[in-house]
Amino acid sequence: MLSIKYNPLPLTFILPMNSLINQIEALQKISQELDPTFEEREKLNEQVREFANHFMENLESYPAYVKGEPSTEKLTIKSGKKNLKELLAVFNSEVVLKGIKPASGKHLGYVPGGGIYTAALADFLASVTNEYAGMYYASPGAVAIENETLNWMKSIFGFPKDAVGNLTSGGSIANLIALTAARDKHKIKNEKITKSVLYLSPQTHHCIHKALRIIGLEDVKVQLLELDTLHKIDTLKLSEKIKEDISNGLKPFMVIATAGTTDTGAIDSLDEIGEIAKNHNLWYHIDAAYGGFFILSESKKNLFKGIEMADSLVVDPHKGLFLPYGIGAVLIKDKEAVFHSHHYTADYMQDANSVNSQLNPSDVSPELTKHFRGLRLWLPLQIHGIEPFIASFDEKLLLTTYFRNQLVELGFKVGPKPDLTISYFWYPSNEIEENEFNEKLVEFIHTNGDVFLSTTKIEGKFVIRMAILSIRTKKATIDTAIKMINKCLIETKKYFKY
Ligand SMILES: *Cc1c(COP(=O)(O)O)cnc(C)c1O
Repeated sequence: MLSIKYNPLPLTFILPMNSLINQIEALQKISQELDPTFEEREKLNEQVREFANHFMENLESYPAYVKGEPSTEKLTIKSGKKNLKELLAVFNSEVVLKGIKPASGKHLGYVPGGGIYTAALADFLASVTNEYAGMYYASPGAVAIENETLNWMKSIFGFPKDAVGNLTSGGSIANLIALTAARDKHKIKNEKITKSVLYLSPQTHHCIHKALRIIGLEDVKVQLLELDTLHKIDTLKLSEKIKEDISNGLKPFMVIATAGTTDTGAIDSLDEIGEIAKNHNLWYHIDAAYGGFFILSESKKNLFKGIEMADSLVVDPHKGLFLPYGIGAVLIKDKEAVFHSHHYTADYMQDANSVNSQLNPSDVSPELTKHFRGLRLWLPLQIHGIEPFIASFDEKLLLTTYFRNQLVELGFKVGPKPDLTISYFWYPSNEIEENEFNEKLVEFIHTNGDVFLSTTKIEGKFVIRMAILSIRTKKATIDTAIKMINKCLIETKKYFKY
């Protein structure tokens, strides 16, 4: 674009006034390039819009999974300039066309989400305006929007108005914030650490264990609870364990329930665990990262009874509300417990402290400056209303039943009827060792790639998982999945000469 050469001068060199001005002007001509003009922006916008439209229009035909690694050579940052067209081509070939397609409805692995388009537009606006969502003083409007989305969640989950909350980058950081508050509330430090007991399910998400290490609670006693046949915490055993630990001189301080486990989509008995927590003065944390928003489905409401008893709750809008990756949420009732670690005042923030009529996101999070995440939740909710979200939950629940029925017809065994939309299945092979057979089957499934499924182990047994949560997973997707699975099953049988 510009080809002005800049010759740096030694810093110690004292410039005469007009030479100084000449230098500034020369620099400005170069730095100006970071701020494209109206015409340049139009051109860039057009190229990105064309790319996005092409992506959206062809998404259906992309395989859900393509094995392969990017060319690091093509991604290398070298000096010099490239044009956007060239870069979009590289982005397409090296990023979009490799790996799992999270935006695809045919992504039925891990916990998908899809990515609502209007949230992407919100991200664009948040970035262009670059509102500062860390403190109310800086952008009262942005922070008010963030707080409004949290208030909305409080009302959904029966949390009191004075609970605090935060929009995080995802469920892991949301859990970290909740666990830190529990630690600070119960003052778990020094010699108290090894005497303190935390109760959780073997199905608890691994980010909880990571969080414990990060916040210095690696050495608390973690009691892995027994589960019932539906993979839920056995609450009777929980009560017994707590009493036993107390009589052994230990200090129970927290119990963690999951509303929608990653492996099987099970919801623990939230009300029973809540009662136990209350009776023993335990911090009650619920990880509802995957399952939480299913509370909005009339048919599932009763499974969430007791969720309002939690001291802290995590949900992931980038799963359960189909938003693009990069947004989790935590709600916590005890403001002081959260503020202990996160609320800080510093001299260079004295202006900010003068205006305090709303909660500052930075008082509830390790983050100070952050992406204005609230907009990507607020805008889609306002544009679409809540109804299509609720219809989607019901649709996903029915698709799960539909998928399981079809699998049974193909001769597969399926796990227990799930509370939500994650379930598992395996092929019962009599002649070949079952794990070996199913591992091979998944190899064929991944090579095929039409629909992506992931795997897990349930009590040592290798099983194939299905997670139906993408906004774009439809009945036709499940039909494609069944076709693909059947084809791969035939290939696997052939492979084993079965
Ligand atoms: C996904 C998930 C997490 C982790 O959340 P991220 O957004 O991936 O950081 C935690 N708990 C549960 C139950 C989950 O499903």
